[in-house]
Amino acid sequence: MGQPDLPQGQIRVDNVVPARAPWSARLEPGEILRLIDLDGAQAVDFLCYNADDPAERYHAPNTIKVPKNIFIGQGSVLRSNLARPMMTVIADTCGRHDTIFGCCSFEVDRVRYGRTNAESCQHNFEREMARHGIGPEHVVPNVNFFMNVPVAADGATGIAESQSKAGDYVDLRAEMPVLAVLSNCPEELNPATGANGPTPIRAIVWREG
Ligand SMILES: [Zn+2]
Repeated sequence: MGQPDLPQGQIRVDNVVPARAPWSARLEPGEILRLIDLDGAQAVDFLCYNADDPAERYHAPNTIKVPKNIFIGQGSVLRSNLARPMMTVIADTCGRHDTIFGCCSFEVDRVRYGRTNAESCQHNFEREMARHGIGPEHVVPNVNFFMNVPVAADGATGIAESQSKAGDYVDLRAEMPVLAVLSNCPEELNPATGANGPTPIRAIVWREG
């Protein structure tokens, strides 16, 4: 692992998120969340909510249908169920992130693999959001940063080898007061966390200038 690129600006939060752990932070408009894939090939399951009203939250179809593209990259806008901009991807050194596969759960892993990991992103989301008084009914299909899910012309799809290298990052600028919630994916039964399994990431909240 090399020294990752750090933002040039005012840093308010700088956390290493351990492998398999959840994390969250409130961001004010204009603040930027940098997510750094420290060791590479580590899926980061991500949701955001209107910090003042969690009934408004990230909405995958609106995020996909406005630009007419299922992939997220530089310039992508994460939109809410009210189609409002929540966060904008203003930098992206990886170039491939997923909007369609949602998160791992004990239930779906039993169905697709016949067994489970010790933790799951669904459970991570539920317990992290409970810290903010938000119930499990608000866990919705999420973005998977650094996860590679290609889709063929016939619709065939699946989790492929990650294109994320050690030190790759995304910068997400808050367009409203948002609660950002993530699960550093604990999955060990598919390529979501690479050949080395779950690894730490770094989450930095900063502002330009
Ligand atoms: Zn997961």
